[in-house]
Amino acid sequence: MDSSVVCTDTFATDAGVKSGHKKNISRDVESDIESLYKAVPQIAKTFRIIDKIGEGTFSSVYLGEARLRDGSREMFALKHLIPTSHPTRIAAELQCLTVAGGRENVMGVEYCFRKEDHVVIVMPYMEHQAIVDIIGSLSFEEVRLYIYHLLKALKHIHQFGIIHRDIKPNNFLYNRKAKTFALVDFGLAQGTADTQIELLKDLVGFRKAPRSVFSEKNLNSCISTCTTKQETKTQLVKPTKTVALSSRRLPTARGGPTTVRNQKVQRGVHQPLTCNCFQTDRVCNVCLSRKQQVAPRAGTPGFRAPEVLTKCPNQGTAIDVWSAGVIFLSLLSGRYPFFKASDDMVALVQIMTIRGSRETVQAAKAFGKTVVCSRELPRLDLKVLCETLRGRRADEVKPIDKPKLECEASDEQAQKQACEASPQLSKSQDKTPKDSSRQNCQVRDEQGWDTVPDEAYDLLDHLLDINPTSRLTAAQALQHPLFKHL
Ligand code: ADP
Ligand code: MG
Ligand code: ZN
Repeated sequence: MDSSVVCTDTFATDAGVKSGHKKNISRDVESDIESLYKAVPQIAKTFRIIDKIGEGTFSSVYLGEARLRDGSREMFALKHLIPTSHPTRIAAELQCLTVAGGRENVMGVEYCFRKEDHVVIVMPYMEHQAIVDIIGSLSFEEVRLYIYHLLKALKHIHQFGIIHRDIKPNNFLYNRKAKTFALVDFGLAQGTADTQIELLKDLVGFRKAPRSVFSEKNLNSCISTCTTKQETKTQLVKPTKTVALSSRRLPTARGGPTTVRNQKVQRGVHQPLTCNCFQTDRVCNVCLSRKQQVAPRAGTPGFRAPEVLTKCPNQGTAIDVWSAGVIFLSLLSGRYPFFKASDDMVALVQIMTIRGSRETVQAAKAFGKTVVCSRELPRLDLKVLCETLRGRRADEVKPIDKPKLECEASDEQAQKQACEASPQLSKSQDKTPKDSSRQNCQVRDEQGWDTVPDEAYDLLDHLLDINPTSRLTAAQALQHPLFKHL
């Protein structure tokens, strides 16, 4: 810890009294605080735990006050990791914070306590607002600044070969008044092949699943799902080398039906076990008995990159850039969360609804995955989409290019579908201003939403590039014209 922090007896009193000092905290929180003092008693020598400020699957975060040598008091965030966390995992999280943290919008670490399997990471406390609470009142300038600083944090950690894997607003603290930002939570971080974080190298072993291309079990396992409203069905087919090669010969242009037919032929030829659930709304026993491909898929479904959703084994720092793109889309459209998906296939359909099914299928092919979509979803114009969702234009989310297949929906139908689909992606409309009353429009105008430069949508388009190899890196994104004055 910072040498200015001293152990003082002031706080080393009975835990009950300590938590009792504070009004307005629930009994549950009080008892959690008491359990923390009991589990890691040395905390009490330095800190008075005031409140619980975060609770996730893997940790609880508390606000603690410490008295410094000069008599002043300072606030800290104390992250108590769940005792079942893997020791290497914990050490890797700490190492990310110590090596990359404390600068460039990345949270630093002050100290760490351990008693038996309990670990508490002490960080400077940063007051912050939840995006969900302020999204309706953010100005465009604030959004621009937010994304700029997020990209700056990403550029920094990516330079160390850290893939964060859980980029979302809850993990990027934002103090609106002070205009300060901090990336937190390296609990799911992984290293690139050349990572500078030693302990992330040890984690590489966990995730590299041996993948034998020609193993029968590893052939096409398919997941099939239906979105209830749209009944657009996606199947993710893991191609064998043969299928992948052959599928390159498929007419690339368009049409689920064509792709599906050809795929079926391929399967018939190369697989002893024939799957019969293709293009149906169930998964057959053949598919259920197939081994799933193992690939990292940590994170939150709505922020997961297409290559994560399709379990592509080669995932890099580009997955964080995708998540930043989703956040940008959310902030530009005023909808949070933007994508809300219960599973990966639903998440993939939602991405296709915005980015287009043809584009998704094509990009997936580039990273070795065959995605089959039963119906063509046209790519949407991001500017029109965002402005429509912000209530700045009448419902007219136009597909970028005309659907050309005779079997598919007419222009008019496609547009209607898109309009219906977009608000469905997130059920959080109630949290954002949606009415287009004149007063609201005026407020929004003052916030710069009537003069959003096209560069913003251009950057968004490049962050949300389905193909990770052509997606902008964080460093490249910072050079984008949108940020020329920053
Ligand atoms: P988890 O792995 O449980 O998600 P995080 O590290 O993301 O843990 O922390 C959970 C929450 O605690 C954050 O979303 C944030 O609200 C709060 N938090 C974490 N670190 C700090 C900090 N240094 N200062 C203030 N709040 C923090
Ligand atoms: Mg978190
Ligand atoms: Zn099947």
